[in-house]
Formats: sequence, structure tokens, C-alpha cells
Amino acid sequence: MITITPYGAAGEVTGSAYLVETENSKILVDFGMFQGDKDDDARNVIPGRVHRMDIEAVVLTHGHLDHCGRLPLLVREGYRGPIYCTEATRDLADIILSDAAHIQESDFERRQRRALRKGHKVNRNDAPLYQSDDVEQTVSQMVDVIYGEPVVVAPGITAIYRDAGHMLGSASVELYMDDEGAKKVVVFSGDIGPPNLPYLRDPEPPAKADVLILESTYGDRNHKSLSDTLEEFESIIKDAVEKKGKIFIPSFAIGRAQQILFHLAEMIRKGRIPALPIFLDSPMAIRASAVYRKHEELFDQEATKLTDEGTIYHDLRSLRTCVTADESRAINDEKGPFIVIAGSGMVTAGRIMHHLRNNIDDPKSHFVISGYQGRGTLGRRLVDGVDNISIMGDHKPVRAQIHTLGGFSAHAGQVDLVKWYEAVALGGMPTLFLTHGEDDARTVLRDLLSDMFSVHAYLPVYSEHLEV
Ligand SMILES: [Zn+2]
Repeated sequence: MITITPYGAAGEVTGSAYLVETENSKILVDFGMFQGDKDDDARNVIPGRVHRMDIEAVVLTHGHLDHCGRLPLLVREGYRGPIYCTEATRDLADIILSDAAHIQESDFERRQRRALRKGHKVNRNDAPLYQSDDVEQTVSQMVDVIYGEPVVVAPGITAIYRDAGHMLGSASVELYMDDEGAKKVVVFSGDIGPPNLPYLRDPEPPAKADVLILESTYGDRNHKSLSDTLEEFESIIKDAVEKKGKIFIPSFAIGRAQQILFHLAEMIRKGRIPALPIFLDSPMAIRASAVYRKHEELFDQEATKLTDEGTIYHDLRSLRTCVTADESRAINDEKGPFIVIAGSGMVTAGRIMHHLRNNIDDPKSHFVISGYQGRGTLGRRLVDGVDNISIMGDHKPVRAQIHTLGGFSAHAGQVDLVKWYEAVALGGMPTLFLTHGEDDARTVLRDLLSDMFSVHAYLPVYSEHLEV
């Protein structure tokens, strides 16, 4: 018998982690961090059944923190086995985990200083979950996997990675498992991308699954069309160029920043906008862009052609990268029009904060929100249309123009998820579990798949043992 136990992303979208057990082997598929809730620290632990010593391998689908963010915890507790992933996932996970460790370390130092000032003891629970050296060790245990090439990850378990088109290096994983003399194919979809994401190949659904664990992030809706989104983006830029305005784009450093640059390059190439100055004001996005360049072999045809010809570099000739804080501050002295891409994506920290403070009361400035904004974030408040904000100790009226662009998601919409499922189900109807989606989203997807394919999908909860 094979038992699969989700330890996260069951009825929610973060904390992806599955313990997969057979008579002979015990592996983890992803071991991600819970994010976005104040109680998450208490949940970012190693569950009791996941004993560091008897886990034989970790199979990692991609480098986002909600899929790899608890791995350094496991390593800190003594896990020294392999962590299988694509090379691009290793490179991006290195950046993402290092950043997470750095944030935890500096938060801890700040709390320590505050406690010292007040003559208190530092609360032990405030200690960082892990530190940079734990991340270094974790990354050193990563073993490269190539798409389409079988790799034996544990006795009786062979994995094949398929491109999931969600971020560079992302994968859906087929596990060929021995089960009491029989063979079973257990497929973890990982996060699936929409078709036509810049740079990335379209997702490649596995040809067959006996058991399928399918993500359902957008199981209940479709995205705004990319062409409408790009049209809106273009008109914002044209308006800023005409009025010599400034455009600020809070952005996630990995994936979204490169996607936006790709679209800007295309607009410049087609003569729709002039080659105005573009500042990539994020050391993390600059490092991630270097990883993209290192892995041109993973690009889709369009991006391969553009990079081979050097076209995209010519298009982006007005791009300037800001590594140091001084370079970032120097943007304050620049005259518009220009575009700044800076973190963080939800306007909760990072260099976007000083740009916001300096420009939010200027009616000629534009803030372009291009991604999901969590509840309680400053990004969400801007989207909701607040009149005033407090930022870095200042109260400021919101006079800048705030735009929300809805079509840039790196996740498959409902229609894409159904197509992906249909391709897998052609090889035979699998036992189906829906995870990595809030309950509303996965219930709608369950009902839709039931109507279309007469399949019953299960909606597992945290730590439920699924015997398959
Ligand atoms: Zn992801």
C-alpha cells in the first residue's frame, strides 16, 4: 500500500508538503513554508511523522518558498539525504532560501535590540527558524534532475520530471512506485503555469497517472486575458511618457520581474513605446535574471530566438540595474519618464517603500500593481483605494495613479487546469486529490471535473492519511 499524507497546502495555497510512504521507502515531495498568516510560525515545523532519519529523499517540484521553505529546518535537524530538483530550481531556491534566512536573521536581531533596550530577555520563540549556513547546507544536498530522464530516488521509487511552465525549472513529477508487486504511477502536478508565459515552455502533462495530486489555486476562476492586460499596461506607459511621469512597479523578484521586462522589450521592439529608462531596482531580481540567462536551454522557442539574435538585449538597452542602496536612492534625482521595478511584490518591505514615500503624493506618478496582494498588506490597501497611507513614519495622501493589472499570473486558470487534467486522464482516469487551493476554489473545480469527466475528486485535509 502507498500512503500519502499532506502536511500543508490542503485547503490553502501555502506550505506544500507530502509524506509518501511504501513498505520499503519514505520520501517527501516538497517541504514548503506556510506564508501570509500571523500564526504561521507555529505551523512552520517538522510534523511528528516526518522523522529526519528515515526520510530517504526529498523530491522538490520548484523553488518557490511555499514549496521549499521548510527544507533548511529538516537539514538543521540532521537530514543529510538527497534533495532532487532541476538545476534551475536549485539556483532559484538558493536565492529564495538565502533571502528567507536573511529576513529571519535581521528580524531576530531587531527583536534582540528592542528587548535589550527594555531590559527584557529575548523570547526563545523569536529565534530564526534557520540561518544562512543551514541554507548553504540544504543547497549542497540538492541533486540535479533533467526533465524527462528517470531517476531512482529511493528503493522502489523512480521519478520523472516534466516541465510545469510555472517558473524557471518548475516541474510536475511522475513517481513510478512499487506497490506489493505491482507498479503504480503517482503524479504530483506541482504548481502549473498558464500557457504562453514569457521565457517558459508550456506545461507538459504526464501521459498517465494512477493517482493524481492536482493543484487548484485558480480552480474557481479564469484570469483576465493577457492581451487586455498588456494593452492597459501600454496605455499607462504612454500616458507617463507624454506627461513625463514616473512609473513604479512593485514586483516579486523572481518570475514576475523578468516577465515584465520581457513585455517591455516587446513593446519597445514593436515601436509601441520609446526606449525609456527602466531601473531594475532589486538585487534579488538582478540575481534571478542572471539565473534566467544561465539557463537559456530551458527557454521556449520565442525566447530562444530573441536571445540568440541578441534582440532582447537590444530592446532593453535602456535597462539599468541598481545593486546598491545608493544607486536606488539616486533614482530620486532622475526626471521622468522612467519605469522602476522594485520589491517587494506586496509593498510590505524593500526598496519600493522609499519610492512610495517619495512619490505617492505626486499625481504624475503611477503605481502599477501586477500581482496578488494579500490581506493586510500595503499593496492591498492601495488596490482598495485608500486616501492616505502611513509609510516609514510619514503620513502621505495618495495622489499618484494606482493601477491594478490582472492578467500576469504564473498559475494556470480554471480552463488551463481542466485541459491539463484532461490530457492526463486520456491515459486512464486517475484517483484524484485536489490540493494547493482554498476550499472555495477546489470545491468549484471538483464539481466542474465531476460534471465534465464523471470523476470524483477528494479534498484532503492537513495530515490526513490517504491510502492509495
Ligand atoms: Zn509556485
